[in-house]
Amino acid sequence: MHLKIASEQTENRKIALQVSNVSRHFDGTAALQDISLSVTAGEIICLVGHSGCGKTTLLKMISGIDTPDSGSVFINGQPIVNGTHFIEPEQRHVGVVFQNYALFPHLTVKQNVLFGLRKTPRATASARADELLELVGLSHMAARYPHMLSGGEQQRVALARALAPTPDILLMDEPFSNLDQGLRQKVRSETIALLRKLGTTVIIVTHDAEEALSAGDRIVLMRSGRIIQQGTAHEIYDQPNGRYTADFFCNFNALSGTIRGGRIETALGSFELTDQQNADGAVHMYLRPSHIYPVSDDGDLHNTIKGTVTERHFLGETEELVVHTDDQSAPLRVRTALRLPADTGTIRLRLDTDKAFFFRD
Ligand code: ATP
Repeated sequence: MHLKIASEQTENRKIALQVSNVSRHFDGTAALQDISLSVTAGEIICLVGHSGCGKTTLLKMISGIDTPDSGSVFINGQPIVNGTHFIEPEQRHVGVVFQNYALFPHLTVKQNVLFGLRKTPRATASARADELLELVGLSHMAARYPHMLSGGEQQRVALARALAPTPDILLMDEPFSNLDQGLRQKVRSETIALLRKLGTTVIIVTHDAEEALSAGDRIVLMRSGRIIQQGTAHEIYDQPNGRYTADFFCNFNALSGTIRGGRIETALGSFELTDQQNADGAVHMYLRPSHIYPVSDDGDLHNTIKGTVTERHFLGETEELVVHTDDQSAPLRVRTALRLPADTGTIRLRLDTDKAFFFRD
């Protein structure tokens, strides 16, 4: 058995996984509503959404732990579940890495990896387990037991076990959430690099927006059992199709207002809009904290307002300011790389309305 290296694969990538119109209800409540999703071979998908939106349920439909009420799932073009077929989980060639890693405490690291190779002849399985342990950098810990490993090492054993039988699809349910912040980024980037090298088709479930933006080829955002938006990280971040997506990926300043004759009127004041494409009417204007700039009182005052800095959070490269304006609306959050004096009180801000999003509902 040899590891597949991505560069050896053909450019014309086929569909590895197809989920078609899958629904699943629990006690009359829809956990999945008519979900359809195509995943190309070698693609890394980040499935995101708030708690309870149906992410784990979707993984269960693919792995075979649970069955849809309706709809179909295909792996490499073969139906694994539909109205007439149900392929048993162990015959689906789907690997799973669980949030808590689910390692067997009484088995050594190597025995844990061998568990994924129960149907492989012993000598081949042993060589394969060694190969996987080397790949995840744990050869020297093969004889240890899980309790003798750090969280990051346990995660790598779980990954090695899931990859050992060369699954067609790898499902990872919150695989990095048990790791502390510093370790999480390191383990995540190493894991992604390894999966890319192997050309593995992966779905990673996370509710961490930053993780989704940095880890996958494509983000699939779910809400209440439905897919709300999918696309590359840039597409999702730069072109959110509604307030839900926008709110999920960025802590926007949301201002209700009315567009009229090329201006937007809000409780904070009236601001000019350069983009005349925005039709008149009630909108929610969404402005990123980094698109509100501290400016000087002596310069161009167009699209500016005054406020008082009430909180400052130094973040290293940037600083986040909380600025109260004279009216009763919510304070503005401002991200700036400027080093403002420690005694900054009253401040003038320019709202970059050219960079704002306008949502109608
Ligand atoms: P989290 O991020 O918290 O893990 P999730 O997005 O993975 O959430 P699911 O576990 O897929 O959400 O659950 C989706 C919905 O289905 C939830 O409302 C949940 O309560 C419900 N649900 C899931 N499994 C069952 C079950 N076996 N019986 C009843 N309801 C269930």
